[in-house]
Amino acid sequence: MAEGLRFECQSGCTACCRQKGFVYLTEEDIVRAATFLGMDPAGFERRYVYRTRNRMRLRVPRESTCYFLGENGCSIHPAKPTQCRIFPFWPELVASRREWLKVARSYCPGIGQGPLIQIETARAQAEEMRAAYPGLYE
Ligand code: SF4
Repeated sequence: MAEGLRFECQSGCTACCRQKGFVYLTEEDIVRAATFLGMDPAGFERRYVYRTRNRMRLRVPRESTCYFLGENGCSIHPAKPTQCRIFPFWPELVASRREWLKVARSYCPGIGQGPLIQIETARAQAEEMRAAYPGLYE
């Protein structure tokens, strides 16, 4: 996409948090969220994290899509995982107008709203995501 993208998260919306899929974590994400909650990282990990050999992700509760999604939105918003903070500037969405518009149509009302985001800014976000989760974008 050569031109800029418009995006502004819409107040009260939590549609992206309700999508199926996993929230992957970096080591820093775990420390940040644990600190925000006043927990030690090991305790946070025991309770909320599923770790495999090369990946970490939030566990998914039975009754909702995320342990931290409350009535008023994300309960760890200031410390939320990189993947959540960067959405919708994920590499696969920034690279494809079709995918970008598909997400707009299917669940994100913030896409197409608000200020024009320069494509360089969007790409920098996508790069941050790529660097944060190297295993996901090999
Ligand atoms: S779906 Fe879009 S508008 Fe809604 S909370 Fe997520 S980023 Fe914001």
